[in-house]
Amino acid sequence: MTWRCASFEFDERMPIIMGILNVTPDSFSDGGEHGTYDSALEHARRMLDEGAQIIDVGGESTRPGSDEVPVDEEMARVIDVVRALAGEGVCVSVDTRHAEVARAAVAAGAAVINDVSGFRDPAMVDVAKSCDAGLVVMHMKGEPKTMQDDPVYDDVVTEVRDYLRDRADELERAGIARERICIDPGPGFGKTPSQTLEMVRNYHEFARLGYPLMAAFSRKSFIGYAYNIEDPAQRDAASAAEALLAVELGASVVRTHNVAVTAEALADLRPLVVISLGCNIALVGNPGEEQEGKIAQLNHAISQLCSVPDSQIVDISSFYASEPAYYEDQDEFVNAIVLMRCGVAPKELLTYLHAIENSLGRVREIPNGPRTCDLDIVDYQMYVVDTEVLTLPHPRVLERDFVVKPLMELRPNFVFADGARLTDENVVYGKAKLIER
Ligand code: ADP
Ligand code: MG
Repeated sequence: MTWRCASFEFDERMPIIMGILNVTPDSFSDGGEHGTYDSALEHARRMLDEGAQIIDVGGESTRPGSDEVPVDEEMARVIDVVRALAGEGVCVSVDTRHAEVARAAVAAGAAVINDVSGFRDPAMVDVAKSCDAGLVVMHMKGEPKTMQDDPVYDDVVTEVRDYLRDRADELERAGIARERICIDPGPGFGKTPSQTLEMVRNYHEFARLGYPLMAAFSRKSFIGYAYNIEDPAQRDAASAAEALLAVELGASVVRTHNVAVTAEALADLRPLVVISLGCNIALVGNPGEEQEGKIAQLNHAISQLCSVPDSQIVDISSFYASEPAYYEDQDEFVNAIVLMRCGVAPKELLTYLHAIENSLGRVREIPNGPRTCDLDIVDYQMYVVDTEVLTLPHPRVLERDFVVKPLMELRPNFVFADGARLTDENVVYGKAKLIER
């Protein structure tokens, strides 16, 4: 899908790099280096050359323990820089929690408002309503001054996810278009390093919300904690490696201090592949527990998918029970969808899928007939083909409820390689029901 930021439109299927431009004397990572107007512009231009698509200008440090900056001071630092870059046609973001600063920045040409306080201030929502800038909605527990004083969560992933979903819902109810909203779980903002890591390892949970998702990891203390790197300026390679992992899980906007290193790491991104799984013959299990047997078989297939070379599962849907499609005189199916990042070519992947099907006793007699295991490639990112052995995207997915429903659960705004959008409007076959477990 697209992230709409004023006159700019970003395709979130490929990572979007946002270069950080701090015009503060006290920022934690590059404190004061770009404090003057000329050196700020020079640094921005370098980041653009290195592959940044957005420049995020910030005049107030929000690192742990930092003090608030008076609004006129923040204005004096950022507005001229915003105006100069916007005047050069650059997509400029303003990193601020103050509505007055955001309003002035938008008037000066900013196309994104990046608010670490998550548009909780009604005045900030008013600014958002008065323009068509993209919005970065971040989760922060507490305020920068005190946020690292022993933050406690019952379940950090669920709490942050529900918070972001509610904030985004509220903005949409205020009349803001969904396509303008990007969510940021706020690594390190009111989270210990280990809480942040737990969140980062579960970015697919945030991707399921269907908004562009930001990976803002650059030089943060959880990187120092995980990789044992004391000096923030030495954390760029590790930050970039973590950004790549998050993008594989579904993040699309990467905020970074070091654009060159980040762009290089992101070049290793593997295509996203959607695989549908189905089964309606249970090989094992007691009478009356056929559904459990079918689920066990799909779980077996999923564990075998883990050994496809250079590939990694990034998310798995719930299981669904579905009515037989096309050939109706057969038992009920169990279906699911797996998302993978895949380093092997499409035809080669198909041979692995056939081998897994065969290992689970697949017999091919009646077309669309009973099967112990069916693994189809629904979509292979950016790859379209129509041959005897392989058609991509799979031609019949949008008419199949047992594919559409689980895919909606994982990527509600999915766009296929041929540009088709995921929708349930054309569903006719295989009505599917979520299996509560
Ligand atoms: P079904 O159509 O019910 O999935 P099979 O699993 O027996 O039936 O697949 C029949 C053939 O479909 C496979 O041998 C494979 O070569 C071909 N095929 C074409 N496109 C795809 C795809 N996108 N995913 C999986 N199989 C495909
Ligand atoms: Mg098949």
